[in-house]
Amino acid sequence: MILGALEAGGTKMVCAIGDETGRIIDQTSIPTTIPEETMPPIIEYFKDKDIKALGVASFGPIDPDPSSETYGYITSTPKPGWNNYNILGELKKAYDIPMGFDTDVNGSLLGEVTWGSSKGLSDAVYITIGTGVGGGVLSGGNLVHGMLHPELGHMLMVPRRGDHFAGRCPFHKNCLEGMASGPAIGERWGRPAKELADKKEVWELEADYIAQALMNIILTLSPKRIILGGGVMHQEILFPMIRNRVKEYLNGYIQAALLEDIDNYIVPASLHDDQGIMGCIKLALNALEISR
Ligand code: ADP
Ligand code: ZN
Repeated sequence: MILGALEAGGTKMVCAIGDETGRIIDQTSIPTTIPEETMPPIIEYFKDKDIKALGVASFGPIDPDPSSETYGYITSTPKPGWNNYNILGELKKAYDIPMGFDTDVNGSLLGEVTWGSSKGLSDAVYITIGTGVGGGVLSGGNLVHGMLHPELGHMLMVPRRGDHFAGRCPFHKNCLEGMASGPAIGERWGRPAKELADKKEVWELEADYIAQALMNIILTLSPKRIILGGGVMHQEILFPMIRNRVKEYLNGYIQAALLEDIDNYIVPASLHDDQGIMGCIKLALNALEISR
């Protein structure tokens, strides 16, 4: 059975087809400009591919509530052309098949707990640290939506002494995204994050902000594992630094066996940056199941 996957990102749209085992059969990428330019080639891609369902994981904020009038919309994004854009509606106009719709990070989380090293976990958090920062939450086996969906990337940070970077989030300045996204690192240090690999102080500061966020996540959501993905997390040196800072911040308050084995508690994404698109395949499978 062929299933369609669309990972809708702020810079590119990844379109793929795969099967019910999560195997990706074909994949292409389309730049995200304005909907009028970006949507037609996406719709064209799935033509003649005989997909039985489509899973869409999108940048946001989005409306993932099927009972809402604006279900399937990208809502309050500042990205020109995409504000209050009915992305799912546009796809449904072209294809009368079951469709699943969720946030990009819930998609990645779903990929990891379905086909990755966190397979079978019922309570997990996925955070991406890339151009933006976002997080998805699985609790008791369900992806958390609540009022809208969690926005873990925008939790407020305590600025570190000596860090004079004000933060670049247009809404909050010094939230996690404002302080720790790839572009925030680049702006703070005057060079792209990728080129700063040998600067230990860059990653110590970065690990501190990420650890502040993880402390809050552990205290509020009590996940059984935290998975970290996104471009910035390709700096592997961050993992031991983050784990140490999290232990320091928690200061022995949470006593749990899972947390004692912190190397297996705070882990990298395991699907070679395919977790998002594989998650879309699972969203498609779930939509198909609901429709039956
Ligand atoms: P996006 O968030 O746009 O989907 P990515 O997750 O790849 O894409 O994140 C891109 C960001 O990650 C860029 O801001 C870049 O600076 C940063 N980045 C990419 N690769 C690395 C790397 N090896 N080390 C540090 N930062 C990186
Ligand atoms: Zn913010």
